[in-house]
Order: sequence, then structure tokens, then C-alpha cells
Amino acid sequence: MIPAGFDYVRAESAEHALALLAEHGDEAKLLAGGHSLLPLMKLRLAVPGVLVDIAHIDELRYIRVEGDEVAIGALTRDRELERSELLQSEVPLLAHVAAQVGDPQVRARGTLGGSLVHGDSASDLPTAVLALGGSLVIQGPAGTRTVAAGDFFQGFFTTAVGEDELLTEIRLPRTGGLGWAYEKFTRRANDWPIVSAAVVDGRVALANSGPTVLRAAATEAALASGASNADAAAVADEGTSPSADMHGGVEYRRHLTRTLVGRALDTASA
Ligand SMILES: Cc1cc2nc3c(=O)[nH]c(=O)nc-3n(C[C@H](O)[C@H](O)[C@H](O)COP(=O)(O)OP(=O)(O)OC[C@H]3O[C@@H](n4cnc5c(N)ncnc54)[C@H](O)[C@@H]3O)c2cc1C
Repeated sequence: MIPAGFDYVRAESAEHALALLAEHGDEAKLLAGGHSLLPLMKLRLAVPGVLVDIAHIDELRYIRVEGDEVAIGALTRDRELERSELLQSEVPLLAHVAAQVGDPQVRARGTLGGSLVHGDSASDLPTAVLALGGSLVIQGPAGTRTVAAGDFFQGFFTTAVGEDELLTEIRLPRTGGLGWAYEKFTRRANDWPIVSAAVVDGRVALANSGPTVLRAAATEAALASGASNADAAAVADEGTSPSADMHGGVEYRRHLTRTLVGRALDTASA
């Protein structure tokens, strides 16, 4: 459980981080909170030659209202999301979900951007961002582009962020007045979801139900055509492809999906 040797360099700004990525090519890996990358390095599933530490780039740590959206710097830590009064009133789902991630030590270091780019289908924050219908700002050698959350999660641990790019900002619609809910099922406290469901503004997103976090499309279509919460929840596992593991089989997960979506829809519409 000891990582292979690597060089370490600390980036002082977003521009500096991009220059370091360009300089070191596919040898380099960005280090934010390190809570996903370092375990991979210890297992030798990731063997970067150079770690570019972006954790100290304060220009990418903020939460502010911009028009009808809230803009969040990618290096904002989970603990800051959880405690932000602005988020609690403007995007309460995200503040609530941030408080569900791991334990206080994890939340003190883990960043929103790191969780999104890591792209684990079993993660809490990506599920919330997908349900919120946010967009993600990516900076790279070719300039800056904005990607809808629905296009960001592209496959198993694969997102729209290229190896020479930096996720800089997450933009979320202000949903403070709308009903929302997050239902997360775990066997132990402080753990990743076996399945979770986030609901807000007619969108329903699921964790651990396929290779990426995904929308419960059949439920959303049923709701849009006037179905009851119970009927919409009954089709929540359509289009999902959960895997079996030591926490449960495929049918168990499908059952959980329908149950959690039903609970979340009832809470969000109460
Ligand atoms: C004990 C423990 C319990 C946990 N429990 C949970 C849980 O219950 N729920 C949950 O969802 N997660 C959980 N996690 C994961 C945790 O949330 C991670 O911190 C998070 O997934 C990754 O964020 P990070 O900032 O640590 O990213 P890092 O590990 O630093 O980076 C992850 C990946 O993203 C890349 N990256 C990071 N930031 C950027 C950026 N701005 N632009 C481009 N690329 C970037 C890195 O190069 C790396 O590939 C847990 C982790 C631990 C160790």
C-alpha cells in the first residue's frame, strides 16, 4: 500500500496548473483533496510520475450568486459546501448532500471538483449535480468550454475533462424555493451509497445504478405525463444497469432504487 515514487509540484494558479500539465504531459496528474487519487496510487491503479498540487489555488474556492445561478469554484471543499448559508438557501440539495460524504476528515479535504472529475458512479456529489441540471466550466489549452452535467459523466470513471484540462467552476440553477430530496442507503455510516436518489425540479438522478451516475429517465417521463409518485417510482430502475457486489445483488439494488426514488419523490413534493 505504498505508492510508486513521484515528483511533486505545487501550482499557484489555474494558469500555472495548466502550464504544468502541458509541460509534463500524461505523466502528470492533478491533486486536489487526494481522497480518491491517493488510494488509487497506493493500489498502483494510478502511477503518475508528477503530482501537480492544485489544493492551494484559492481563486478556485468560492461560492457566489451570479444571476439565476450559483457559481462554485472547483476547489471548494465538501465542508465549505455543507456549511455555506448561501448554498443552504439557494441550492439546499447540494449543501445537504455534501454533509453525507464520508466523515469530517474526508469532507475537510475533499473538493467538489475532485469528486466530479473522479467520476465514480457511487459518489454523492455527482448525483446531486446531475439532478440539479448544472453545468461545468472546463479550462484547457484550447480555451474555456462549458459542458452540461448530463454530458459530463461519459463512462466508467470517465468524464468530459481531458488529461490536459482543469475543471474550474460548477454552475447550478438557484432552486431554493423548490422541493428537493436526497435518499442514500448505506450499510455503514460515512460510506458511499449502495444506491442513492436525488430529486429536484422534475429531475431524478441515481448513484450506483450503472457505469456513471444517471438520470431515472422513465420516472421523469412518468412524472411529466402526470403519473403519481408511486407509479413514477415503480419504473425508476428502467434503463439502469446495477452491478452485484458484496453489498447486494442486481435485483436488490433495483428494489432499492424504486424504494428510494419513491421516498425522495414524496419528500420533494410534500
Ligand atoms: C474514507 C473515505 C470515505 C469516503 N466516503 C465517500 C462517500 O461517502 N461518498 C462519496 O461520494 N465520496 C466519498 N469519498 C470520496 C471523497 O469524496 C473524495 O474526496 C472525492 O471523491 C475526490 O475529491 P478530491 O478533492 O479528494 O479529489 P482527488 O482525489 O485529489 O482527485 C480525484 C481525481 O480528480 C482529478 N481532479 C481533481 N480536481 C480536479 C480539477 N479541478 N480539474 C481536473 N481534474 C481534477 C484528479 O487528478 C484525480 O484524477 C470518500 C473517500 C474516503 C477516503
